[in-house]
Amino acid sequence: MKKTPQHTMWTMGLSEADAGLLAAHAGSDYRIVALPPGRAPSALEMERDDPCLFWLTSEAWTAIASQREGKSQHLDLVPRVLVLEPGYSREEIERALDSSFTDVIKPPLTRARVLDVLRRAVETRNLYHDILRMTREIFLEREMLARKNDTLSFLVTFLTRATESLDPAEILGKVREDLSLLLPVTAVHGIFWPPVPEGGALEAELFVATAPDCPVNVQWVDLLLESARRLGNAPVAGYRVTHVPGMAELLDATGCAVDPGQPPVPGRVILMPLRTGTEAMGALAILTDGSQTMGKDQAQALDSAMKHLALALKNAMVYREVKLQADHDALTRLHNRRSLDERLRTEFERHRRYGHSMSLLLLDLDHFKAINDTYGHLAGDAVLRELADVLRNSIRTTDFAARYGGEEFVVILPHTDEAQGHMLAERLRHRIEQCRVQHHGVQLSATVSIGVAGFRPGAFANVEELVREADRALYLAKANGRNVVCTMSGCDDAKAAG
Ligand code: GH3
Ligand code: MG
Ligand code: MG
Repeated sequence: MKKTPQHTMWTMGLSEADAGLLAAHAGSDYRIVALPPGRAPSALEMERDDPCLFWLTSEAWTAIASQREGKSQHLDLVPRVLVLEPGYSREEIERALDSSFTDVIKPPLTRARVLDVLRRAVETRNLYHDILRMTREIFLEREMLARKNDTLSFLVTFLTRATESLDPAEILGKVREDLSLLLPVTAVHGIFWPPVPEGGALEAELFVATAPDCPVNVQWVDLLLESARRLGNAPVAGYRVTHVPGMAELLDATGCAVDPGQPPVPGRVILMPLRTGTEAMGALAILTDGSQTMGKDQAQALDSAMKHLALALKNAMVYREVKLQADHDALTRLHNRRSLDERLRTEFERHRRYGHSMSLLLLDLDHFKAINDTYGHLAGDAVLRELADVLRNSIRTTDFAARYGGEEFVVILPHTDEAQGHMLAERLRHRIEQCRVQHHGVQLSATVSIGVAGFRPGAFANVEELVREADRALYLAKANGRNVVCTMSGCDDAKAAG
C-alpha cells in the first residue's frame, strides 16, 4: 500500500535531475511541490502546504529575494536549503549564509547528503516544536499563577478586613466590597444565630442591605429565615433585622437597592452557609449580576472566605456577649456602675460641646432593709427586678438607666432640663408606688425617693458635681418623708396633692 506523505517540501529552480534525485532520496514520507521560479510563494500558499523545507538554487533565491522587502517575511519561517549547482563559487556559499539559509547542499545530490539535510531539518523542527510547547506551558503556568495570586490577594484582603472589627454589622458591611474582588456582587444579606440547645429554637439576627420599607425586603428576610431553619435544623423563635446600607452596591434615596433584579432571583443568588467546625451558625445570601459562572478556584476561595468569616462573626458574637455581661448588672440586667461612669463622661462631654441640656435622676428604695428583713433577701431581689423593669419601660431609647449599687438607681436623661427631669421622676415614683410584686404568695410593694439634678449653663464644672447635687436632692427627699421627688430647689408635693 502506498504511504501518504507526512511532510511537504517546496523546491524552486532545481534542475529536473536534481528534483528527481531529491524525490528519490527523500522517499514517500515527503511530498514535493515544485514552485515556478521568479515568484515568491504567498502566505496563503504557505499556510496551505505548511512546508518543512524550501530547496532553492541561488538564482531562484536572488529572483524572489528582491520581492521580499516588507511583504514576504512569512518565508523566513520556512528553513531554506541552498542547492548549489556544478561550478558554484565560494562567494555563493558566503552569500547563502548571509541570506540566512539554514543549510547548503553541494552537487551531486547523493542519498547521504540529502538524508543529512533532512535529518538536521527534522532535528531543528523537533527542537522548534519543543520550544513552542514549553513556551505554551510557561504561558499557561503564568496565567494559572496570576489567577492563584488574585485568589490569594482576595483571601488576604477578606481575612484582614473581617478581623479588623468586632461589630457584626461592620464586618458584614465590608463583605460585599471584598467579595467583589472575586465575583460581580451587587448585594449581600446575612443571617446568624447563637448555638441552639438540643430540641430548642433559634434566635436569629438578620443583616439586610435594603431598608425595612423596600418592597423586596420581605422576600430577603423570608429567604434568610428559611435558610436558618434548614441549616440550623430548628424552628426560628424570634429574629431581629438590622439594615446595613454598605451591603448593597447602590441604593436609591429610599434605601432600596438600585439593581432591578434585586429580589432573590434564581441563578443570581449564591447561598453560602457559615459554619464553625460542624456547627452551622449563619448564612450569607450573595446577589450577583448573573454575568459569570463560578470556576473551581473561585468556589474554593469563596468557601475558605466563608470559613474565616464564620470565625470572625463568632468572635464578634462572643465579644458582644462578654461585653454585655461586663456592662450589665446580673440581677436587674440594667447597666452597671462601670458603664454608668463611662456614659456619664460621654454625655457630659456632649453637653459641654453642644450645650445640650441634660439631667440626672438618683432613685433609692424606701425602707428596703425592712422588706429584706421581713420577707427575705429573695423577696428583696424580686422587688429590685421589678423596679428595673419599670425603669426600662418608662424611658426613651436615648435615656440610660443603671444600677448605681444596692437599692440605688440612676437615670441619665440627655436633652432634658431639670423641670422635665422632675416630671419624668414623678411619673416613675408614681408607677413604682402602684406596682405589686408577687413573691411566693406574698404581695409586695415599695416606694422610692428620687433626687433630680439638671445641668444649668455654667453651674457645674464636672459630672461629679451633678451627681453630688442629685445625691443631695435625694437626701432632701428622704428627709421630706420619702416616696417623694426633690431637686435642690424644692420637693414636689404631687403625692400629697394626689
Ligand atoms: P432608706 O429609706 O433610708 O433608704 O432605708 P433603706 O432600708 O432602704 O436603706 P439602707 O441603706 O438601710 O438599706 C439598704 C438595704 O438594701 C440593705 C441591703 O441589704 C439591701 N440590699 C442591697 N443590695 C441588695 C440586693 O442586691 N438584694 C437585696 N435583696 N437587698 C439588697
Ligand atoms: Mg440606699
Ligand atoms: Mg433605701
